[in-house]
Order: sequence, then C-alpha cells, then structure tokens
Amino acid sequence: VAEPATAYVASPATVPTLPLGRPAAAQESLWQPAAQGFRPLRFVGQLFDGYLLCERDGQALLIDQHAAHERVLYERLQAERAARGVEADPLLVPETIAVSAAECAALVEHADRLRDAGLEGEAFGDGAYLLRTMPRCLRDRDAGALVRALAAELDASGASDAARRAVDRVLATVACHAAVRVGQRLGESQVSALLASMDGVPVNAHCPHGRPVAVELRRSAIEALFQR
Ligand SMILES: [Zn+2]
Repeated sequence: VAEPATAYVASPATVPTLPLGRPAAAQESLWQPAAQGFRPLRFVGQLFDGYLLCERDGQALLIDQHAAHERVLYERLQAERAARGVEADPLLVPETIAVSAAECAALVEHADRLRDAGLEGEAFGDGAYLLRTMPRCLRDRDAGALVRALAAELDASGASDAARRAVDRVLATVACHAAVRVGQRLGESQVSALLASMDGVPVNAHCPHGRPVAVELRRSAIEALFQR
C-alpha cells in the first residue's frame, strides 16, 4: 500500500510543459499523457462497452472511448480548418431540417463558421434549414440530429459569442457526433487505432467538453480493496 506511485501523473518528468496562461491542475484532469504514449499500452478489455482498460509497467488506465475519440477528431478538425478548411462532401439530396425561427436565425448568422466546418446551408422557408454539405468525418451520420444540436448550441450562446468561440463550438459538436459512442463494442484493431491516434494530438490543447479522457487506476488503490 505504501508503494510509491509509479504513475505518469505523479512523475514530473512525464508531465509536459504547459502553454503559458493555462493552469496546470485544470489541464492534467483533461488529458493525462501515458508515460510512454498510448500506443504501447496493452489493451486488457472493454468495460460496459464504453471504457478501455489498459495497462503497462504497473500502470493501469481507464480510457473513455467516446471522449478520447471525440478529442482526437476535434484536434484533427481544428488542424484541417486552419490548413484549408474542413473536408466536406455535398449531400446527394440537400436535407431539409426543421428548426425554430430563433435557431434558424442563429444558423444563418453563423453561416461562415458553419461553412468553415464543412456545413454549407441556408434558411429554407419558415422553420427549416436546408443543408447542402456534410463534413467528411460525418459521412453516413444523421445530418438532422447534428444541425439541430448546432442550432440549439449557437442559439443558446447568443449573438455576442466571439467568432473564434463559435468555431470551437461547431467543431466540438461535429467531433461529438462523429465519435464512437459509449455502448459500442470495439474490436482490438479499432482500439489499437484509437490508442495510436491519441498520441498524434497535442496533449495540452483545449478540450471540447472539458471532461477527462483517461484516468489512472492506482495499483495501491486496487490492492487496498483486497487489504494487501
Ligand atoms: Zn461527445
């Protein structure tokens, strides 16, 4: 029980330098880097079809599969947007989505931000929005559910929302809708791909929803359960 913490969180050498102006405590709870990266972790199994139990060198990690995937997608979308705009595909048939007048106004007001995120559309009569393109990462997903979520989000954030924050919100919502869900059984190859992709995104970047992605299960805490 008195065993020293071997975990990455406790070792200063493994905690990367934080960007100026961001509190360390807040950052660490968002995305805890695995000591040697996520890719080399041994995948033990999936709990409740939503959490990935992994271990390495006396360190055990529980990863929220949705939060992790969402985070990776969000960082990729931000990089795409900055480089050349988010990759988008035209819908074969533009989709008419019912929204309230206020939500429609919010969508129209943020049309440029939405286009940057791969969503081109326009107001369509009373109480509807016509969507013409979808971000490529959302192929086959429910366009109506996404647009209604975006409309509600943008409407709630109001006109005073800075453009930059509106873009972040839009990309976070797109990433959320594209990510694997809790309740989805993942195969080993899908888990390996997810773990590898987690090493490819910046550890200290802003997290879309601010929830933790990975938590450490301390060996000493597990042993204490068995009074070892
Ligand atoms: Zn989400």
